[in-house]
Amino acid sequence: MSAETPIPSLLYHKIGRPPRGARVPGQYVSPGLFRRHLAYLKGHGYQGISLPEVVRPDCPLPPLPVAITFDDGYRCLYEEAFPALAEVGFGALVFLVAGAFGGANTWEQAVGDVAEPLLDLGRIREMQQAGIQFGSHTMGHPRLTELPPDAARREILESRSRIEDLLQTPCRAFAYPYGDWDAPVRQFVAEAGYEVACTTRRAAARRTDDPLALPRINIRRYNVTARFAHKLWRARRARP
Ligand SMILES: [Zn+2]
Repeated sequence: MSAETPIPSLLYHKIGRPPRGARVPGQYVSPGLFRRHLAYLKGHGYQGISLPEVVRPDCPLPPLPVAITFDDGYRCLYEEAFPALAEVGFGALVFLVAGAFGGANTWEQAVGDVAEPLLDLGRIREMQQAGIQFGSHTMGHPRLTELPPDAARREILESRSRIEDLLQTPCRAFAYPYGDWDAPVRQFVAEAGYEVACTTRRAAARRTDDPLALPRINIRRYNVTARFAHKLWRARRARP
């Protein structure tokens, strides 16, 4: 399979209905719509792949790969996404805010958003045992380029060690909070030993991309199945 094969990596946040006062209601994809997205992917021959594996040149790539990723690690993933993924046999990669397991979205509440609980360790372990992968989304969800370099480096390194200690498995993937990164931040991610890092640049990933700056396709609540399909099609054919 060619290095040019598009690898759409879907970015979801919350699975549920937006509560009153939610600042970004688009981030809530309803459980029914999420299931329809999965059914579309399955029905069109997409195969869920593991992002850290698939960027390696020796890893076989199916004709229609897709990676499903979730940022922030909200508890609703356990309740709504996890069973739906299991039904179709798809994995997923969840980026955790490593300093906030079992807590809430303090970085969103700080700007006036509603409280959302995050996955606790028990749920994370249960999902891990069922094949869901976990990556790091820093310790506290800062804008990394706005931090002093030492603080940014700590966010990147400590979150990796914390996740590895708690889950007893290598933490190979990273996602930049707010998609905010630059060359020094990318260098800290490389030095910390991550194999892949996801941004919010909108495109399908390819093996020719920098593995520490992989694009994703942001999926929103108004991406009904036809629009979802169109978004996927457009990202697959777009050139960087
Ligand atoms: Zn985030």
